[in-house]
Amino acid sequence: MEELKKQLEEFGRLVGVQAQKEEKEAEKSLRPQSFDEYIGQTQVKENLKVFIAAAKQRKEPLDHVLFYGPPGLGKTSLAGLIAKEMGVHIKITTGPAIERPGDMAAILNNLAEGDILFIDEIHRLNRQVEEILYPAMEDFAVDIMIGKGPSAKSIRLDIPRFTLIGATTRAGLLSAPLRDRFGMLNHMEFYQVAELAQIVKNSARILGVEIDHEGAQEIARRSRGTPRLANRFLKRVRDFAQVQFNGVITLQTAVTALDALKVDPNGLDAIDRKLLQTMMDLYGGGPVGVDTLAASIGEDVGTIEDVCEPYLMQQGFLQRTPRGRMVTEYCLEYFHRSVPGRASGQISL
Ligand code: ADP
Repeated sequence: MEELKKQLEEFGRLVGVQAQKEEKEAEKSLRPQSFDEYIGQTQVKENLKVFIAAAKQRKEPLDHVLFYGPPGLGKTSLAGLIAKEMGVHIKITTGPAIERPGDMAAILNNLAEGDILFIDEIHRLNRQVEEILYPAMEDFAVDIMIGKGPSAKSIRLDIPRFTLIGATTRAGLLSAPLRDRFGMLNHMEFYQVAELAQIVKNSARILGVEIDHEGAQEIARRSRGTPRLANRFLKRVRDFAQVQFNGVITLQTAVTALDALKVDPNGLDAIDRKLLQTMMDLYGGGPVGVDTLAASIGEDVGTIEDVCEPYLMQQGFLQRTPRGRMVTEYCLEYFHRSVPGRASGQISL
């Protein structure tokens, strides 16, 4: 038993290297350093504050938390803030990086009491690895198989009490047994323009670039509700400001730069436009299956479902129907199209 624990510890140190590297990456840059700097997602944030305070009072680890929603909405940042607030370490890794059940057992065994394990893309864990998590989450124990064949037996090892924070683009992709073991399920919403503008202003301060209110608003409007994009656009607009506009980001700087980057005033990017235009031009506006669409525009289905569609649906460009995807009347108007065979006015579903 002791020998096994030792082996796991040794192994865990090796696996841990990967996790630590990613943790370092995550620390850099524009990540919010406190709940106050974390703008928006008010509901999720306020609930978390209560759960954190309660867990701290009871001197217990926080219950397991799942965040789901499109990429770039602040799931990893929030996990980091929870760790900070709880005063514990966080180990960051991703679903596909943990290939074998032994890797997972080793990672879990090497956590300290109360630590947080953050698994991004948790829906991509393979089945055997996932099964290690069930008793770990419920009973803080892992079951290890020793030996092979008829003499193989399972040994249960206690592991430190920890908090699992999982992130996924869609909760529906998670297996039911895993989803049910989370105590808190949080849906991340797209951000309002005013919230994104605040994030852009804060980031501009950190980057040391001057920006006015209209400039920040314009970047925010075009960032499809996503802080990661807002920060990315800010950096590119800063380049234009530096070279063409005396280093200051105004409305004009933002418009010039974002137009040059082909980000339209509603935040649609080249892939969004290609998707919608293909639906209108080749498929009469739909209904069309997502696999067909993916093949037509040369993108993978995952990108379309996780990145493009949530925003296009939220903005009213696209609908999912049982028969496939359809563009909306608003979309037709936006692109100045009329689709043959479709009467103006209502779309029949
Ligand atoms: P996800 O894990 O959902 O893909 P991240 O947490 O990695 O998203 O966020 C991407 C980037 O967006 C972060 O590095 C941070 O700079 C910024 N960001 C995300 N959410 C917020 C927020 N609520 N307030 C300020 N910045 C944010």
